[in-house]
Amino acid sequence: MSNRTFTMIKPDAMKKGYAGKILDQILQSGFRIVALKQLHLSTAQAGAFYAVHKERPFYGELVEFMSSGVIIAAILEKENAVSDFRKLIGATDPSKADEGTIRKLYASSVGENAVHGSDSDENALIEGAFFFSGLEQY
Ligand code: ATP
Ligand code: MG
Repeated sequence: MSNRTFTMIKPDAMKKGYAGKILDQILQSGFRIVALKQLHLSTAQAGAFYAVHKERPFYGELVEFMSSGVIIAAILEKENAVSDFRKLIGATDPSKADEGTIRKLYASSVGENAVHGSDSDENALIEGAFFFSGLEQY
């Protein structure tokens, strides 16, 4: 499954109206949409998604932020999807992200950083399955 990754357009970027530009940049960069939906996570759902960060000091803030508005969740396909997508979105902290990356263009802080991208093939599979059944993936 090394050709798939999972992404979310986070509430900050959704509220600022960047969803269309971000999706366009993703498609122009050669990713194919396997599955996509808009939804508003509950705090319990956001907490479960980010459970790996439970012990980190920013966990509460992260869960609150991710459940503060609608998001777009999507599974994407491309060769080397996970690493190519991490390159496309740039560093977690947008002030350290390379020019032209999605976070450099659209994120405002390390907490509110516009997009999520899976960090491994294993997590891409787990995260995609959190949001989409097999029947919803094309
Ligand atoms: P993501 O998993 O969302 O793609 P990432 O892999 O670049 O981001 P992680 O270390 O997995 O970064 O952190 C998950 C998310 O937690 C970050 O995207 C960010 O929204 C938030 N976060 C990370 N570090 C901090 C911090 N120091 N302060 C506040 N929020 C943070
Ligand atoms: Mg991460």
